[in-house]
Amino acid sequence: MNSYIGKVIGRVKEKYPYQPEFCQTVEEVLSSLDPVVDRHPEYERADLLGRMVEPERMFSFRVVWQDDQGTAHTQNGYRCQFNGAIGPYKGGIRFQKNVTPSIMKFLAFEQTFKNSLTGLSMGGGKGGADFDPSGKSDDEIMRFCQSFIQALYRYIGPDTDVPAGDMGVGGKEIGYMFGEYRRLKGNFENGTFTGKGFSYGGSLIRPEATGFGSVYYLENVLKHDGETLDGKTIACAGFGNVTWGICRKAEELGAKVITLSGPDGYVYDEGGVCGQEKIDYLAWMRLSGRNRVEDYADKFGVPFYRGEKPWGVKADIIMPSAMQNDVHMDSAKKIAANKVRYYIEVANMPTTNDALRYLMDQPDMIVAPSKAVNAGGVATSGLEMSQNSERLFWSAEEVDMQLHRIMDTIYNNSVAAAERNGLGYNLVAGANIAGFERVADAMMAQGLF
Ligand code: GLU
Repeated sequence: MNSYIGKVIGRVKEKYPYQPEFCQTVEEVLSSLDPVVDRHPEYERADLLGRMVEPERMFSFRVVWQDDQGTAHTQNGYRCQFNGAIGPYKGGIRFQKNVTPSIMKFLAFEQTFKNSLTGLSMGGGKGGADFDPSGKSDDEIMRFCQSFIQALYRYIGPDTDVPAGDMGVGGKEIGYMFGEYRRLKGNFENGTFTGKGFSYGGSLIRPEATGFGSVYYLENVLKHDGETLDGKTIACAGFGNVTWGICRKAEELGAKVITLSGPDGYVYDEGGVCGQEKIDYLAWMRLSGRNRVEDYADKFGVPFYRGEKPWGVKADIIMPSAMQNDVHMDSAKKIAANKVRYYIEVANMPTTNDALRYLMDQPDMIVAPSKAVNAGGVATSGLEMSQNSERLFWSAEEVDMQLHRIMDTIYNNSVAAAERNGLGYNLVAGANIAGFERVADAMMAQGLF
């Protein structure tokens, strides 16, 4: 390994032993960059990597809310503005009880490279709180969102930092946040948020974009093999917004999603999560706040496996689309034993680093990294920002066409970056390098800070 890269990874691990997810993502990204950093000895003198692994700033604040009985609760809120070299900070807000500074930093670091890959002008950011929305009433969620924005509104804006949704935050929460922001600012700066409702400036296709985009990316991978989606089976995880979009687009292109998962276990639907009734039921499951996938098995009479993950299932394509570190070494071994050819990450960092290396080392397996595969979500947020700044709406066809074009470009740029650096067909390293090069150029051009 390049000695400067080794030094920076070592320093991060020494400084942040209590931030394991952040250390993991730094190691994963930086260890792909050898050929580039070897070619640019000036990076060390400018401590480019050392600067790149520190957020430009990070807010940490108290969020107090009252439940329906009038009892007050205190949560921790964060916004991490990781890197603004190529555009305003951009990234989602996550409400989940396990949100920590480490999770915020890992997501914002990944977001920096992901946003760079889209080719749009967006820096990397992420925010959230250790608030668990499951089982909360609408009023409780509204009060929480209002309180969160009271703490954050000064530090965000259309040219500063543009939040969106992530786990636990969808259109409803964005609506409450934007409402509070508008009340506090006294203006209609709707470009401060993306993932809004259509009536006040949201983009068509944004809710579908992450799932659709990941299937467009997958089509490129299949094409490389002379294959198409027709007749393929896909094992997915999660049952949220992203998986919903994958199910819809996969069905449209002749494939079927055969597994879904939740915190309670996974379901196996041999006939596929296809047809309006099942797709609508997924949306209901998410909105119900119950956070259980067993409901799907009860409703459609398919098998449910309590406490298990779907990675032992035989499928043509594996798409971990639930959350970080979902696929560990034991699951990776099952996937390899099943001779799966396509391992397409969708959730942010769904694979532990050792499992990812192991899968990449399988001679017949193609591994695609989440920061490229799931970039269609934030790319469409970028398209929403453009529409807001022009004060007009684009048609669904227009947005979908742009999304498709961006996903093809991300794939092609990743392939080209790996090839240019002598790494062959390596989608993981290619995405890291292509994402890195643009941010690196911008940081070097802008001088030291
Ligand atoms: N949270 C999503 C992501 O991980 C979307 C971010 C956005 O649209 O800003 O990329």
